[in-house]
Amino acid sequence: MKKAYQFRIYPSKNQEVKLNRTLSTCRYLYNNSLEERRREAELNELERTFGVTPWGKPEWINYYDQANNLSESKTDYQKEVFSQVLQNTLKRVDRSFKNFFNGFGYPRFQGRNRYNSFTYPQSGFGLKDGKLTLSKIGNIKIILHREIEGKIKTCTIKKDIDQWYITFSCDIDIPIIPVGIKTKTGIDVGLSSLMTMSNGEQIEPPKFLRKSEKKLTREQIHLSKKKLRSKNRNKQRIKVAKVHRRIRNQRKDFNQKLSTTLVNTYDHIVFEDLQIKNMVKNHHLAKSISDAGWSQLINLTKSKAEYAGKIVELVNPRGTSQVCICGHPVPKKLSMRIHRCPDCGLVADRDHVTANVIESRSSTAGTAGFQACLSNLNREAMKQEATLLVGW
Ligand SMILES: [Zn+2]
Repeated sequence: MKKAYQFRIYPSKNQEVKLNRTLSTCRYLYNNSLEERRREAELNELERTFGVTPWGKPEWINYYDQANNLSESKTDYQKEVFSQVLQNTLKRVDRSFKNFFNGFGYPRFQGRNRYNSFTYPQSGFGLKDGKLTLSKIGNIKIILHREIEGKIKTCTIKKDIDQWYITFSCDIDIPIIPVGIKTKTGIDVGLSSLMTMSNGEQIEPPKFLRKSEKKLTREQIHLSKKKLRSKNRNKQRIKVAKVHRRIRNQRKDFNQKLSTTLVNTYDHIVFEDLQIKNMVKNHHLAKSISDAGWSQLINLTKSKAEYAGKIVELVNPRGTSQVCICGHPVPKKLSMRIHRCPDCGLVADRDHVTANVIESRSSTAGTAGFQACLSNLNREAMKQEATLLVGW
């Protein structure tokens, strides 16, 4: 089982220069390798179009080609970076292409504010007696606020505006004992930042989160009024990024606590598969923001449940709000908050009914529940890699 631990690190001024330099070296390598692959792909396309593909020519330039080229001709900047960190950068390019072939977006070039992490995939880092050592960087101050379980496999350094973080990915070898399922709930999460459970209980995010979100909107309006490429605009951009960070931290904190409560209270928790839901519905900003928050909650709940031998299930979201628990279709517009079934006569809060419909779609419900897409695990893994690339 994998578990990730994140800690803040406190580099000295000198180390911060090195960290920043490593980031930009990796970013250049990333963009150049991406460019190389794109060119190759275009050439291939041309050759195919005109039917001149030479026999036996490899179709695509791959990770190994690029890694070989790299080790043969390193720039002075690249020599200053631990070699596996560079290789991992090429791996990210490789992954972004694989994701593309699996139906994700075309790999993008990474701007300075976007490319914010690098990874030691195997070695080159050490953690001894509460001290962190990074090859080519030095000994960095770290505060280990919790104990690390298992064996550390990889470590990723991440820049967040003016702060630095490290994430250790660990393999934990502990037996997981499944618990007997006694308590179960379906959970409806919606655009309104409210969460409803099968028993009708509702949970609302804390007020300070709302407050920060309002502040964000305000600061973004300020930003849009600043002159392009001006000093003030950059200042405002950092301000907005910091409000973003605060919201992210507040939300994560909230989601951490809520997921713990959920897993402590229920043995089997059923959510809608938000990824499927997003494919169906059109996107708008407010929704994608709220979805990001819910996805985090679901992922945290999943990993905690796994740890505790409990179950989190994602079910098909199709029409969950448009049907009654009895199975009779009850179409409702978003503005209709009360569910009235003409068939069985049920009158109840709309979200409360939806939560029950979600619960009834669980595979062990004994009803005609249908399971979410099987490739779920696969997609989950790809999504995690994608977020590593994009930041958080
Ligand atoms: Zn009904």
